[in-house]
Order: sequence, then C-alpha cells, then structure tokens
Amino acid sequence: MLRYEFEIGRIVKKIREKNVKTVGLQFPEGLKIYATEVARQIEDQTDAVVLISGDPCYGACDVVDTEMNGAADLVVHFGHTPLPLNYDVPVLFVDAHSNVDLIKSLDGALDLLEGYEKIGLVTTTQHLYLLKKMTEFLENHGKTVVMKKGRGTQKGQVLGCNFSAIKELDVDAFLYVGTGNFHSLGIKLFTDKPVIIADPYMGKARNIDEFADRILRIRFARIAKAMDAKNFGIIVSSKKGQSRLDLAQALKKTIHKMGMEAFVIMLDDVSPELLTPFRDLDAFVMTACPRIAIDDSKMYKKPLLTPQELEIVLGIRNWDDYEMDEIKY
Ligand code: SF4
Repeated sequence: MLRYEFEIGRIVKKIREKNVKTVGLQFPEGLKIYATEVARQIEDQTDAVVLISGDPCYGACDVVDTEMNGAADLVVHFGHTPLPLNYDVPVLFVDAHSNVDLIKSLDGALDLLEGYEKIGLVTTTQHLYLLKKMTEFLENHGKTVVMKKGRGTQKGQVLGCNFSAIKELDVDAFLYVGTGNFHSLGIKLFTDKPVIIADPYMGKARNIDEFADRILRIRFARIAKAMDAKNFGIIVSSKKGQSRLDLAQALKKTIHKMGMEAFVIMLDDVSPELLTPFRDLDAFVMTACPRIAIDDSKMYKKPLLTPQELEIVLGIRNWDDYEMDEIKY
C-alpha cells in the first residue's frame, strides 16, 4: 500500500518538549485519508488531545493557525514546506515523504526527453528528498541536470504560484516528477519550454503540451470576453498566505483610471456560488490563489482573470506577453 512518512516520532517529541495539551493536525486533501490513523498514533503515544482540521487545505498559504488559535497550542501541517509567514500558533511542518517508486516513471520519461540534454528537474515536497537519486539516474543516462533554489522554495521545488526555482533556468526541457497536471501546467505556462511529466503513481511519463494548449485557448477566450466588461469585482483573500490587498487596490485604481468601475471583494474560500449575488459585475479578477482563475475557470460563468490577464484586457499588456501570475512571498 502507498504510504507517506508522517514523522510521528518527531511530532511526539515536540508535543512532550512543549508540554502541548491540544495539537491541531492539518492535511492537504490528498493526505486527509490518513488523518485518523496519524491522530490515533499521536493520542496513543502522548497525553495531548488531537484536533483534526476538516476544512479544505491546498497549500502552505492556508495554514489553520488563525482558526485554531485558542483551541490548539501546536499545529502540525503536513505535506507542504513553510512559507515566510508569521503564525498565530507554533506550527510544525512535516513534509510527508512518499515512498512510491520513481524509477519506472523516470525510465519512461527518457524516451520523451530524447534530443534534450540539459534538463531542469522539478518536483514537489513529497519527493524532494529523492532529488539526488533522480539526478544520478538522469546523469547515468547522459543528461545534465540543472536546478536552483527559489524565493521561499527549495532547490528543484515549485508551487502552483511560485516558479522562482525555475526562473531563467538555462535548460532544454523540464522534467517534473509528480502526479496530475497542476504543477506541470504551471511550469509550461511560466517557461514555454518542453515539459515532461514522470508520474510515479501511474508509473508512466507523458507530455503536458496538448493540455497546456487547451488551457491557453480557454484563457484567451476569457480575456476576449472580458474586453466587453465595464464593471469588475476584484477578489482578495482573507487567507494570510494568499492576501494581496495592495495589488487588489492598485488594480481597482487602474480600472477607475480607464473610466470603469471596480469593487474589492474579500473571500476566504472562493467558489462560483459566492460570486453569484454580484449580478451587476461583468468580470472578476483574482488576487487570491493565482490558480483558481486558470484551473477552475470552467466552473465560472463570467470571466475570472489573473492580474496579468486584466492588463491584456485593459490594453496595457500585449497578448504575446502572457505571463503566469505568482505570489511574491
Ligand atoms: S496560493 Fe494557490 S498555488 Fe499558491 S500555495 Fe496556495 S493553493 Fe498553492
């Protein structure tokens, strides 16, 4: 069975050291199925009471410290590395290393990497500890591996909203080791270079090109539709790690200068239902998680734009200069 390293020993040690009475546990969606098992082990080995956060969690931008302030004296956040934020309650970050076998998918990726010599190797928190092994594998097959640290991210690590670890990297192609399209799509849109996915959970490799083309076509259709908009809603997040109020206010000013109306709307979780009452607004601009506009676009009837897409709509950026939105922590 697929397992992750939840570092129970380190958590237990911290609870004892700090004499923690109530410990909050927060898991991203993919790891939540392990929550009760982890809680059981902690309660068996300590006197602390465990409080599991059941709310959705998609990143380290969304640590549950504020919600658990007063209820828990330590929060353990699984599956993400810390961002440079101040927390209301001490937070222990646990990477949750995956023990899935990477070699089969890396092997499959070699065919797709044929013709590319310099490879930018990228992965997520769960596999970062295997970067050396992955690098050795690629080098043994004649590749040169290029990686660097990012702003708030580790060497070879990208987040859906932070690609600083691959910015201006001199490579022929990127190899993303991980599952799904989320990070690889971001890499493709950020760099416009070939991106191969080695998916260790499927044991297969594939190319992101077709999917990325489809998403770009949708983006351009949304931008075109928003060109008729006269009134904009600018969404700002109440989540500490996604809040960009200054940006939202600057966008509002820019829209006003162009003779149109804009309102800043604060939300915690963003969903189409929560935007439905704003019937007089023609389009929305997302300053919360940049990926909502890109990845969830189909769920929204009205155009939902990134700040850079708004610039295209307003004529202050060229279509050719399309750029991924990032949060600069
Ligand atoms: S803002 Fe979005 S992409 Fe960035 S860490 Fe949070 S959930 Fe992930």
